[in-house]
Amino acid sequence: MNKRKLISVVIPAYNEELVIRETHKRLSTVCSISGYDYELIYVNDGSRDRTEEILRELAFHDSHVRVLSFSRNFGHQVAVTAGIEHASGDAVVLIDADLQDPPELILDFITKWEEGYDVVYAVRKSRAGETWFKKVTAKLFYRILQRLIDIQIPLDTGDFRLMSRRVVDSLNAMPEKHRFVRGLVSWIGFKQVGIEYERQERFAGETKYPLRKMLRFAFDGITSFSFKPLQLAGILGLYSAGIGFIGILIILYMRLFTHSTVQGWSSLMVVVLFLGGIQLLILGMMGEYIGRMYDEVRRRPLYILEEKIGFPGGTVQTHQ
Ligand code: UDP
Ligand code: MG
Repeated sequence: MNKRKLISVVIPAYNEELVIRETHKRLSTVCSISGYDYELIYVNDGSRDRTEEILRELAFHDSHVRVLSFSRNFGHQVAVTAGIEHASGDAVVLIDADLQDPPELILDFITKWEEGYDVVYAVRKSRAGETWFKKVTAKLFYRILQRLIDIQIPLDTGDFRLMSRRVVDSLNAMPEKHRFVRGLVSWIGFKQVGIEYERQERFAGETKYPLRKMLRFAFDGITSFSFKPLQLAGILGLYSAGIGFIGILIILYMRLFTHSTVQGWSSLMVVVLFLGGIQLLILGMMGEYIGRMYDEVRRRPLYILEEKIGFPGGTVQTHQ
């Protein structure tokens, strides 16, 4: 008998007790009308509220539900990675738990996948209910990233997407620890296509991405795909040496051919502070890379699972 294909949906959740039931309802509706078999893989990223309890309850009542619980908060991108690793679908969909990404769009993803696309990603045409700070920094980030890196990552695109099995297998074969999933997927290639949508307001609760996490995420994106910040030292060095050389010529000229000399202390201080600042900045930048390299060579597992519910087999595995 011809087995129906399976769609896996991966939903990372960190302190989402206010939204998770509603998300489950909407996802279940969409998936059941898709005509495919489906599994909903919730990744509880060390939530400290009732998220885990609610997920347990959902798994008890619904055999489509799978739950992965982390031993602590490991972060959004790691949660997504864990979900993908445990997905057995012919296609895998990533979606946030907060309903900012409308589950109904998954049906459009599936249509494109049936047409033969390997990756279908959702492009944010607008963002409702987010602070201007978030909108401006996000817009800026994607545009700076675009200029720094050599691969094409589509602008204004989050992790809300569908990936075919061969993309998922390629992604699972990438061992890196600082994961910028949307970038890795672009890097993999195959046939990719975007669908525009209006990003909704959060259904309830507040963002789990404070500035600190946003910055780390941004640096992961840049360092994963570009060496340009490291090359900045060379470029700045070249410029300041050039300016210094012109300065020497001017000073020599004044000393030899005019009666005035250049007065010293404050201009000297400015130059010393300026160059000192640039040097520390570059050192910091190198630190970002070296720290990430250290993380890679330590080869710790990417996450620690506390519990797995609803998976066939049921043994606990961790990322190698
Ligand atoms: N999330 C997570 N771990 C974290 C932070 C966020 O699993 O450390 C999840 C969160 O529950 C949500 C998704 O990642 O499903 C996106 O987070 P959020 O909506 O807070 O980010 P925003 O949409 O504000 O950028
Ligand atoms: Mg959100």
